[in-house]
Amino acid sequence: MRTRRAALAAIAGAASLALTLSACGQSGEGGSKEEGGDTKGATIGIAMPTKSSERWIADGKNVVADLESKGYKTKLVYGEDDPDQQVSQIENLITQGVKALIVAAIDNKSMNNVLQQAADAKIPVISYDRLILGTKNVDYYASFDNEKVGELQGNYIVEKLGLKDGSKKGPFNVELFAGSNDDNNTRYFFGGAMKVLQPYIDKKQLVVRSKQTALNQVTTLRWDGGTAQKRMDDILTSAYKSERVDAVLSPYDGISIGILSALRSDDYGSKTKPWPIVTGQDAEVASVKSIIADEQSMTVYKDTRELAKVASNMVDAALNGKKPETNDTKTYDNGAKVVPAYLLTPVSVDKANYKKEVVDTGYIKESDLN
Ligand code: BGC
Repeated sequence: MRTRRAALAAIAGAASLALTLSACGQSGEGGSKEEGGDTKGATIGIAMPTKSSERWIADGKNVVADLESKGYKTKLVYGEDDPDQQVSQIENLITQGVKALIVAAIDNKSMNNVLQQAADAKIPVISYDRLILGTKNVDYYASFDNEKVGELQGNYIVEKLGLKDGSKKGPFNVELFAGSNDDNNTRYFFGGAMKVLQPYIDKKQLVVRSKQTALNQVTTLRWDGGTAQKRMDDILTSAYKSERVDAVLSPYDGISIGILSALRSDDYGSKTKPWPIVTGQDAEVASVKSIIADEQSMTVYKDTRELAKVASNMVDAALNGKKPETNDTKTYDNGAKVVPAYLLTPVSVDKANYKKEVVDTGYIKESDLN
C-alpha cells in the first residue's frame, strides 16, 4: 500500500502531466492504469451558483451522479448567488483536500485569489458553463455554444414576426433584456441575438421604444426575475402609452416569467391585447408550461445532463494523465489565456417541438407539465 503522501504526489503529477500534455497539444492516451487507480475514490469539489433556479439544482445532481459512477466522491456546494460566499466555499473545498474543482461562477471576476490557491495545490479547475475570467488558473471550459443561444432567440423573433421571410415589413416594437453583467455568458447571448436583430433595428423594421439598446442598459443583475419584471413595468409605463410591444428578447426563463407578469398586469394576454413574442432559455418546467399555455413563446433547451458528462469526463481525464476532449480552442479567451472548451449545441424549443425535445428525451417528465 502506498503512503498517502506518495498517492498525493502521484495525483498531482497526473494532473500536471495532463496540463503539460494539453499545453503541448499532445494526446495523453498513455495514462497508466496505476495512476488511474490512485485517483479513484478521490473527492471532487463542485461549486454551483444558486438553488433558486431549477437548472443548477439538476446540474449539481447530474455532476455528482456522473462522478460517482466513475468512482469519485463529491462535495457539492451552492453559493446562493453571493460571490463572497462562493469564494469561501471554494477555499473550504481546497482545504478539505479535493483533487479537482468544477466551478459555475457567480461573479466571473471574483476567482483570481482562490484559483491561485487551487493551482498551488495542483488542483485542476473546470469552468462549468460560465467562463471564469482574468486568471490562467482555469484549465478547461465545459459549456454550450453561447452565441448560438442568442442567435436562436433573435431568429425566433424575426421569423415569428414575419420579417425574416419578408411576409411582413413592420415596424414592430421590441424590448431587449440581457442576463447578469458579472456572467461572461451574458455578452455572448446578447451578442448572438443582436447579430440577428440589429440589421432590422437599423432598417427601422424593429423599433426599441425605450431606446435602451446598449448591453449596460439592459442587463439584469443575478438573472433576477423580479428585477426584470420591474424594468418591464417601467418600460410599459414610460414608452407604451398607446403603442403595443410585439416582442421581448429575454435571455433566461426566470426573466421571461418576470416579464410576462409585468405584461399581464398591463392587460397583455387578453382578447384585445395578444401576448408579444417572449423568448427564454433553460426549458425550466414553469416556462415549458407557459409555452404550452401560449404565453411564453420559446425557450432554448440545453441538455445539462450532457454538460455534466462533459465536465466529469474532463475531470477524469485530467486526473488520469489524459487530455480531456475539447472541440473549441479559439473562442473563449478569458483575458489571461484562451481556455480549451467543449461546447454543446443548444436547441430552440416552442409549442411545436417541446414534446420531442424535452419530454421524449426524458429531460422533463410529462406529468410535471400537467
Ligand atoms: C447559463 C444559463 C442560465 C443563466 C441563469 C447562465 O450562465 O448559461 O443557462 O439561464 O446562467 O442561471
